[in-house]
Amino acid sequence: MTPTPAAQLLLTARQMIQLGLNKGTSGNASVRLDDGFLVTPSGVPVEALTENSMVYVQWDGNAEPGKKPSSEWCFHRDILLARPEIHAVVHTHSMFATTIACLGRDVPAFHYMIATVGGDSIRCAPYALFGTQALSVEALTALQNRQACLLAHHGMIAVGKDLSQALAIAIEVENLCEQYWRLLQLGEVKVLNTQQMEEVQAQFKGYGQWGK
Ligand code: 13P
Ligand code: ZN
Repeated sequence: MTPTPAAQLLLTARQMIQLGLNKGTSGNASVRLDDGFLVTPSGVPVEALTENSMVYVQWDGNAEPGKKPSSEWCFHRDILLARPEIHAVVHTHSMFATTIACLGRDVPAFHYMIATVGGDSIRCAPYALFGTQALSVEALTALQNRQACLLAHHGMIAVGKDLSQALAIAIEVENLCEQYWRLLQLGEVKVLNTQQMEEVQAQFKGYGQWGK
């Protein structure tokens, strides 16, 4: 039996803590439903979460009565509305993505795996206050043709066709940011050029189980 969206969201929230991607009440996640989306509640530690804690929010921003959705419901809503191919969004304050985000830097194509995020960089959205429409606007721009972005002085967002893909991308972004952080200690960072990254994108089309 396929788990319900609420069960999938609970599992994802727990995995983000277990994997060390989030601590305390940092971060949140959402999944698309028919007339809106389901999102984690605001400021609830993962130990206290149940399937029933998840909050249904309609596309117009109305949340189910008596429940308080994540303070970031606005960027979750706007990403899901703007990107029909995306069905899940995860947000983390993971150590290395947040460290690079606090430098306000894009992550360049220092490793071919940057292509898994959809291009030749992971963009860093300019700073905007958490929980605002302004943050949502910056995030949407940084996510253009991408599956993830950094948020300056904040963390990262990863998106996917489902929660497991969004989480897998968040894990990869965190890994790449740790590698980039290590490189920054050592001096000049060498990057792959546009042609090399286009070859990587082409090679990925036949990689793994996708080409079957
Ligand atoms: P919420 O608990 O309201 O989802 O906030 C956590 C967070 O990461 C805000 O950016
Ligand atoms: Zn946050």
